[in-house]
Parts: sequence; structure tokens; C-alpha cells
Amino acid sequence: MKTGITLVLATALVSSASAADTLITNANGIQVDANGALQHFTGLLVGDDGKVVRLLRAGEPLPKASVTVDEHGRTLTPGFIDAHGHVIELGAHALQLDLVGTRSLSELQQRLRDYAAANPDSKWILGAGWNQELWPDKRFPTAADLDAVMPDRPVVLGRVDGHALVANSAAMRAAGVTPQTPAPAGGEIENGLFVDNAKELINRAVPAATDADLDRQLAKAQDILLGFGVTGVGSMSTALGDWNAMRRAGEAGKLNVRFMVYADELNLLKVAPHPTPWLYDDRLRMVGIKFYADGALGSRGAWMKQPYSDQPGTTGNQLHSNAELRAMADTAAAAGFQIATHAIGDAANAQVISTYEWLDSKYGLNRRWRIEHAQIVDCADLPRTGRAHIIASMQPTHQTSDRLMAEKRVGLDRLRCAYAWKSMLDTGAKLAFGTDFPVESPNPFPGLAAAVSRQDINGQPPGGWLPNERLTFEQALHAYTRGAAYAGFAEDRIGSLDPGKWADFVILDRDISKATVPELYRTQVLETWVGGKRLWTRAPSSSPPERGR
Ligand SMILES: [Zn+2]
Repeated sequence: MKTGITLVLATALVSSASAADTLITNANGIQVDANGALQHFTGLLVGDDGKVVRLLRAGEPLPKASVTVDEHGRTLTPGFIDAHGHVIELGAHALQLDLVGTRSLSELQQRLRDYAAANPDSKWILGAGWNQELWPDKRFPTAADLDAVMPDRPVVLGRVDGHALVANSAAMRAAGVTPQTPAPAGGEIENGLFVDNAKELINRAVPAATDADLDRQLAKAQDILLGFGVTGVGSMSTALGDWNAMRRAGEAGKLNVRFMVYADELNLLKVAPHPTPWLYDDRLRMVGIKFYADGALGSRGAWMKQPYSDQPGTTGNQLHSNAELRAMADTAAAAGFQIATHAIGDAANAQVISTYEWLDSKYGLNRRWRIEHAQIVDCADLPRTGRAHIIASMQPTHQTSDRLMAEKRVGLDRLRCAYAWKSMLDTGAKLAFGTDFPVESPNPFPGLAAAVSRQDINGQPPGGWLPNERLTFEQALHAYTRGAAYAGFAEDRIGSLDPGKWADFVILDRDISKATVPELYRTQVLETWVGGKRLWTRAPSSSPPERGR
């Protein structure tokens, strides 16, 4: 009798385990191995726990599994990890007035008119994505430009880089801002344009998103990310409400993307007193704190050692004194958080490197301190990044988008160690790639293409911009998978399809290891799998899930 029961139980266990095994066959599998070399495989066996049991090699007998999916030779890679994105903003922007790609002020005004007509109940009209650099006269928009279209309802429209906004008179009235209102330190106000720290004067008057708004924005963001094959994200500047929305989604089983969360500096220690463990089957973890050392280059908020070439009166915005940044970093480090600091200008990068060197002397080496963007580094400071084991969290598409603007702002001589992926790797620093979405589209393929070519989607400039900084395909893919996982202390779970890691992978419409640069730019995701489950499938003959930039 006893033996009989054991037998029945054993059979039940075996059949229930195999019932959920999934075998992916006939794939053109590609990933980078732990040594950074390209590794090929033909499929994978996924266990009932959603993790990789093993990779399949050409010619070997197929293991048994209850579900078999034949990929018919399609290309399969690990899911992409975007080391630096703004999750709720991605969803919010997708649901707001979209001004990405406007070619003139009048096009902005037309889109504003249309959106207001389509959303008569929106008390405030919020939008983002304009970039005056794409307009014929390159003039920043003003309050009067918006008043001409929308005199009554408050309108707040963010610049594409998030470092400036333009408000109409109704919004300024609601915010209590008058022509006499002084700009705060680290900010500027001009004709309704609010730069860096001045943005808060307007933003604090905007009615806060409700929990229901945040839930919708998070769901929308996840849809967009899966459509681009992004299965993991370093969620930057995460506010308390955003974190709570992620927790609600986790509780409801609606977290489809894995988020490594970096709390907004203003919420330091409020969101969680210490890093959390991984939650919801490794879909969510509070890992670090995000600080800002300066602003962005487009709005001349990046903090430079020498004055701007096209505006000699300014060196940009230093957001914290050395002592202040050190104290903030010390507090975060003492609580066990990883630190990720935004630094664009060469002065900001030097300040952050010095801060991390000081932390190293106090807390020991290799706590994986991150510099976000690390865009313009003084060549003299570059070797210090490797010595301090810093992770350079960089966005290849910023290089192609910024190139001409950057040359104008600071001149070529100061750009010799700018967007310097290859030089960064050569110092021994670790590289993690992302997009800074929604500043750029979260689509990883333009990033891969830019990383290996230093050319934009139109092939400009011929031969690539500062071409010594081009990466190999393997280095670029590594930074977008294993490197980005490492940057979030997640390399033991994601970033590759090695046995024991989550079966997070994508099916692509082409072999990206053999694609030309233009082909790489046009790569589309056909399916996105997370934890061994197919969560997103491209609709037949549909256009890209979200417009690129
Ligand atoms: Zn960012």
C-alpha cells in the first residue's frame, strides 16, 4: 500500500513537471557568453519554473517536453535590458500630447489644438517631446506661443530631454508665477520657458496623477517595452507613487517586465529604508538611489569645466556642492543602496568620479557605483573611471541625436572623450546600455546600430563620428544584456540564457549578428517571452509599436 502511494505520487510529480516544460527548437540562437564571445545555439529547454534548463546545440538529440515550439530558423536572443529608463514617464507620455518629431512651432500649435479638442475633459493639458533644434529657426517656444492657441486651460509642454518645459499664461497663473518670480538656483525662467530647477515652480501646480492614472501609465509602458523586446529595465528616478504602482502591479500579477528600481533622490530613504529583496518572481527590486549632478546639454544645463562655446556667459548648472553630493551619497551608501548619478558635462563627471573615489575609500572597492550618461568626460579624468570600478550607464542613441548640437555647444576639442564607449571599456570600467526612454525611444536596435557604427539612421556622418569609439557587435550586445544586468546586480538571474536564469528572450525578424548597420536600425521584434511565457506577439504586418525619434 505504502509503495503504491509513493509510486502514484512520483508519477504525478513527473507528469506535472513535464507538462509545463517548453522546448524551443529550430532557432538561430545568439548571445554573448561570459567571456564576451558570440555563442550560437539552436534552442532551449525551459523548465516549469520559467527558467532555462539548458541550451540546445546543433545536431544533438532533442530532449522531451510536453510543449514544443518550432521557430523555423528565426533568430532568438536574450531579452534586452535597458539600464536607464523612466518607466512611468514612458507610459504617461504615450498617453499625453505627443510632440516628438514636430518640425515647427506651428506644428506644435496644431497638435495642441487637436489634442485639446479630443480631450475636452482634461483640465490641464500636458505634453512632451518638442525639440526646437528640429525647427527652422531653432527658437525656444514661449508662453505667448501657447496662449495664441490655448488661452484658458493650463498647458505644460516638456522638452524632449526633460530638462526644460514651456508653460502658457494660465499654467503660470495657476502656479502663482509672475514676471517678478526669481529663478531658483540651478534654474532659469524666460518667457514661459522653465529650465532645470525652475521647472518645479510649474510642476508643483500640476494636479498629481491618481493611483488609477499611474496604473494605466505603468501598463502602457510595459506594453511598449515588450513590443521592443525589452524585458528588464533600470527604472530611474522612481518616485514613491511609481514604486507603489509597481507594487500594486506585482500583487496583481501584472508585472511583465523586470524592474531594477532606483529611487528619486527626493525620496531618499522614504520609499524603502534599505534595498528590498527581489519580489514577485524577480520582477521588482529596489536596488539604488538616483542623484543628479547637472542638467542636459541641449538646454545648456550640463555642467562644464569651461564656458559653453555658443554662450560664453555660462558653464551650465551645478546642482550640488561637493560636500552636499558627498553627504547624500554617504547616506545612501550607508543604507546599502547602490548609487547612480546623472552626469553629462565634464565638470559634473569629474565631481561624481571624485565622490565615488571618496566612497571607495570609505566603503571599499567595487560597490558598482554608476554614472548615468557619462557623456562628456575630460580625457584626463577618463582613466579614473576604470580605477574606481565605475559602471558607465550610457545611451548610444544620445550620441547620434546630440552630435551636431554637442559640437555647437562645446566644440569638437572638448568632445574627444565624449560618448566614449570604447575608451570607457578600455579603462576597465563596465558598460551598460540603455536609451533614457522616453527621451529616446526604448527601441534597443537603433542603439546597437549606433554603438557599432557611430552613424545615425541616415548613415551620417560617413565613416562614423569619432569612429575610434565604435564597439564590436559582441561588445554592444553585451552592454545591452549582460552588462545592463550586472549594472543592476541582476547578472545571476537575467542578461543571458545560461541554465538557471530566467527564460526571458525575444524572437527577431533578422539575424542581428550578420545585419548591416541600416538593417540593424530596422530590426523588429516578433515575439517577447518573459519567464518562459510568450507575453507579446507582433500583429501581422503591423507598424512599429511606438514611433522612434
Ligand atoms: Zn534619465
